[in-house]
Amino acid sequence: MKITVIGYWHGYPGAGEATSGYLFEEEGYKMLVDCGSGVVSSLQQYIDLKDLDSVVLSHYHNDHIADIGVLHYHRVLSYYGEGFEKPLTIYGHQEDSQGFSALSYKNLAAAFPYTDQAPLMAGPFTITFVKTSHPVACYGMRISTEKGSVFYTADTGYMPALASHAQHCDLMIAECSLFAGQDGTAAGHMNSHEAGKLADAAKAKELLLTHLPHFGNHKQLVSEAKEYFQGNVETAHAGWKKTIEQ
Ligand SMILES: [Zn+2]
Ligand SMILES: [Zn+2]
Repeated sequence: MKITVIGYWHGYPGAGEATSGYLFEEEGYKMLVDCGSGVVSSLQQYIDLKDLDSVVLSHYHNDHIADIGVLHYHRVLSYYGEGFEKPLTIYGHQEDSQGFSALSYKNLAAAFPYTDQAPLMAGPFTITFVKTSHPVACYGMRISTEKGSVFYTADTGYMPALASHAQHCDLMIAECSLFAGQDGTAAGHMNSHEAGKLADAAKAKELLLTHLPHFGNHKQLVSEAKEYFQGNVETAHAGWKKTIEQ
């Protein structure tokens, strides 16, 4: 299982970069998790958009879905240009009916619902979902293959219960929107200490901090998270890659 960070910014993208977007690849299957602002541009540095098999969306905030509309347009223009018409599968939750219905487009993109009641099988990936603490319905997810598993917190305030869902994951991709001492509870975001605590409680092998703030020094987030988590901690950047193989 290969993971590539496409975008990692909180709220809006830094210059030439993107907000939330993570590419998961296994056995030739290519799945994008979240599709924020700038993701369609950045993703093309790693794959041909035509090769994208599916998209999984954690929730319908713009920094996670802003580029869904232009991903639709890619399919339309490919159809008129070369007759390419492989429909794109987009998985989302149905707790925001408007958000969910906007995922389908003509016969070129089809929305499929997921819930936290049953695993979703997407190509070689098995995905289980857990609701997070966020102002709108949002789901964290455990993405597994035979080779290992990744837990992605999506957007969430500190929620110790997420640790049981993430137990012994090979990699935790945790949102870290704030520095230690800043309280993101009301906004539904974690700080560096909370991300470290969650990774420690989950006994994660490694921690990748993402959804990073537009202020301060990101290196400080790593040292703060390490006060609670003994494993390797890194901050996300465009093109950060990891391969999990056992
Ligand atoms: Zn959000
Ligand atoms: Zn967000």
